[in-house]
Amino acid sequence: MKLYSPTTISDIKARHDFKLSKSLGQNFITDRNVIEKIVEGAQIGPEDMVIEIGPGIGVLTAEAAESAAKVVAVEIDKKLIPILGETLREYDNVQIINQDILKTDLNEIIRERRKAQDFTGEVKIIGNLPYYITTPIVMDILEKGVEAESITIMMQKEVADRISSPPGGRIYGAISVAVQYYCQVEKIINVSKEVFIPRPKVDSTVLRLLLRKEKPVELRDEKTFFACIKHGFGQRRKTLLNSLTGVNGLDKDGVKEALTDAGIDWMRRAETLNINEFADIANQVAKKTLAQE
Ligand code: SAM
Repeated sequence: MKLYSPTTISDIKARHDFKLSKSLGQNFITDRNVIEKIVEGAQIGPEDMVIEIGPGIGVLTAEAAESAAKVVAVEIDKKLIPILGETLREYDNVQIINQDILKTDLNEIIRERRKAQDFTGEVKIIGNLPYYITTPIVMDILEKGVEAESITIMMQKEVADRISSPPGGRIYGAISVAVQYYCQVEKIINVSKEVFIPRPKVDSTVLRLLLRKEKPVELRDEKTFFACIKHGFGQRRKTLLNSLTGVNGLDKDGVKEALTDAGIDWMRRAETLNINEFADIANQVAKKTLAQE
């Protein structure tokens, strides 16, 4: 069955009296090439387990099940569960979990499936993400330290551009620094809005986020690093002296000293700082504000 074909999607909708939900970000892929690019981009091996976020009617799930030892797909919409039971019935290596991905303990799933010897390789996360919660999903996975090797996901092109952005421009922001701290970011492909049902207003991009085994900077305190990023970009038009005032309770003079000790000009703005410079500032702020161990 060509699950990605518009005729199949219409047929499934009619037979199951299923209506696509805009609020759940349901834009289904109708292009075989895009499905292949996501699954190939994820570099799934026969020993690996794939965790899919939001399988929809199962187009990516079926393709992943052909390559992986195990696929666990987490879908929030309970109306899609009987549909997935039908579209994926020939695959005995697929498990569907009807749950909100943000409330799912992925590390517990990984531990359980490894213990059951459902897979012996790496964990690869994939998905055509619902646009409305792309950033929360990505940050949730990264902050919780999910034991995956990579995350290969389609998202709104503008969000992918921000995640991949180098310092210096308007689109460089907290999400760029945060994701690049946890991952190496690779662009797989741009995808036109024409290949979805229903057609969204914006184009998409597939990114592969390869989780770093070692972080790119040494930090005294990770929380302070993220607080500096949040403060810096929270008021991105202000100079660092102003935008960082208040971070970890530091007053203006304290921020001035921290910036001087980090060798960073107070008049610069957050969008000009690379990750090493953010780390230097955060380490000085932590030195001044946190009790020594
Ligand atoms: N993978 C399918 C495809 O590419 O055709 C569907 C992708 S569609 C953009 C996003 C999917 O994520 C939908 O099936 C939607 O119901 C599901 N979804 C939305 N929010 C979710 C959440 N919080 N947790 C799990 N799934 C979610």
